Amino acid sequence: MTRVLMVYPEFPDTFWSFRHALKFISKKASMPPLGLLTVAALLPQEWEVSLVDMNVQPLTRHDIVWADYVFISAMVAQRDATHRVVARCKELGATIVAGGPLFLAEEERLEQVDHFVLNEAEITLPAFLHDLEAGTPRRIYSTTAYADLASTPVPRWDLIDLRHYATMCIQYSRGCPFNCDFCNITAMLGHVPRCKSAEQILTELDALYAAGWRGGVFFVDDNFIGNKRKLKEEILPALIAWRQDKEEMSFQTEASVNLADDAELMDLMVRAGFTTVFVGIETPDEDSLSECSKVQNKGRDLVAAVKTMQRAGLEVQGGFIVGFDSDTPAIFQRQIDFIQNSGIVTAMVGLLQAPYGTRLYERLQREGRILDQFSGNNTDSTMNFVPKMDPQMLREGYRRILEGIYTPRAYYARVRTFLREYSKSHTVRTRITRDELMAFLRSIYVLGIRGRERWEFWRLFLWTLFRRPRLFPNAITYAIYGFHFRRICEAHV
Ligand code: SF4
Repeated sequence: MTRVLMVYPEFPDTFWSFRHALKFISKKASMPPLGLLTVAALLPQEWEVSLVDMNVQPLTRHDIVWADYVFISAMVAQRDATHRVVARCKELGATIVAGGPLFLAEEERLEQVDHFVLNEAEITLPAFLHDLEAGTPRRIYSTTAYADLASTPVPRWDLIDLRHYATMCIQYSRGCPFNCDFCNITAMLGHVPRCKSAEQILTELDALYAAGWRGGVFFVDDNFIGNKRKLKEEILPALIAWRQDKEEMSFQTEASVNLADDAELMDLMVRAGFTTVFVGIETPDEDSLSECSKVQNKGRDLVAAVKTMQRAGLEVQGGFIVGFDSDTPAIFQRQIDFIQNSGIVTAMVGLLQAPYGTRLYERLQREGRILDQFSGNNTDSTMNFVPKMDPQMLREGYRRILEGIYTPRAYYARVRTFLREYSKSHTVRTRITRDELMAFLRSIYVLGIRGRERWEFWRLFLWTLFRRPRLFPNAITYAIYGFHFRRICEAHV
C-alpha cells in the first residue's frame, strides 16, 4: 500500500488570511487547500492519503515518516514556510513531490524536491504516476496544454475537518479572456475560459452539503463571468434550483467589472445566492489602466459600476494598485477618494509587483528593472522591480493610502456608505449561528469596550440598528474585518 502525506504550508499573516478576524468566530483558516484535495482525488483509489494543512494543525515527525511520498502544494505567498517544510521532510528522508503556483519558478532554489508535478495536475499527474509505476519517474513534469475540466474529480473533503474553516471553496472555471499585463493567471491558465458542467458543480456542492457544510462557498475562479452565456443558460439556473431548500448556503467569487453592464447576469447571480464579488479595480487613472492593458476598466465611471453592483445585491470587494510607471504623486489621494466614495469596504491596496511569467515581468526584465521574484503577498509593501517614481515617495504615498482608508474614522464611514447603497437579497439566510453569536459578543468586548475604535463601533452599531436593521449582521462582520485590516496595515507599514 502506497502512503501519501499531503502538506499545505502555513500562510503568512496577509490581507486575505483574515487571521485576526478568524479568532472572533473560532476558526483557524479562511479556506481549505482545494488544489491538494483535488489532487488527492486524482491518486489511485487504493493509495492511503492523509493531509496536514499547517494553517490549522502542526506537521509532526510521525506524519512525515509514515509516508512514502510527501506531496506539497503552495502559492507564492507560502514561499518561506514551504522552504522550511521541504528542509524538514528531507532531513527525515522523505521523497518530496511538489506542485502549485510557487514551484513554477522555484526549481533551482528547491534542489531538495525530488519531483515537480507542475501546471495542470489533470495532465501532469497521470504522467508522473505512470512513470512511477514503471520505476522511471522524471524530476519535472510540466505542460503547456490546458486540461478539460470535465476530467476534474470532486475534491476529497473527507481529508479535512470542515469545522476549522470559515469558508469552503470550489472551482467552476479556469482562464480569463482579458489580458492585464501584471496578471499571472492568464500566463498559467490561458485566455479561453474552461468550465465545469452544471452537473459537476452540483455534485461538488452536494458533496459539501453531505459532509455537513452550511455556509459560505467561495468560487475561486479568477473571473467567474468569463463565459456569460453558459452561466445564464446552464449554471445559474441550476444553482437557483439547487439552493431553493438550502438558503443557508451562500456564494462569493471574483469577476471583471463588466459584470456591472449585465443586469440579467447580476440578477441571476443574486438569486443563485451570490453575495460578494471581488473586482480588480486597480486604479482610477486612465493612463495607468492603458499601461497595464486593463481595457475592461477603461472609459467608464468605475464608482458608478461599483454602486450598480451593490444596488443589485452584490457586495463589491476591490483590488487596487499603485506603482505604475504612469502614476504621479496625485494618485495617492485619488485612490483614497475613490475607495471612500465607492463604499468598497474590503479594499486591498498593494504596490505593483511583477510576477514571473507575465508580460509586465518580461518588459521590466528587458528594461533591466527586475530586482527579485515577487513576494506573492499583495500588501506587504514590497516591489520586485525598480519603479519610475522615487521609491521613498511611493512607499510614503502607499502608507498615506492605508492610513486614509483604514483609520477607524475613515473605515467606519466607508462601511456606512456601503450599507446605504447595498440591497441585500431576500434569499440570503438571516438565522444566526452559535459561532456568529460568539463573534458578536467578542466584537462588543474587543472593539466596543477595549478597542481604540470604540466610538466608531457604537456609532455604526446604533446607526445600523435604526437605519438598516436587516444589515446589522453585515455591520458587525465589517467591524471585525476592519480590526484585521488595521492589524495588517500596522504590521506592514
Ligand atoms: S481580469 Fe483579472 S484574471 Fe483576468 S487578466 Fe485581468 S487581472 Fe487577470
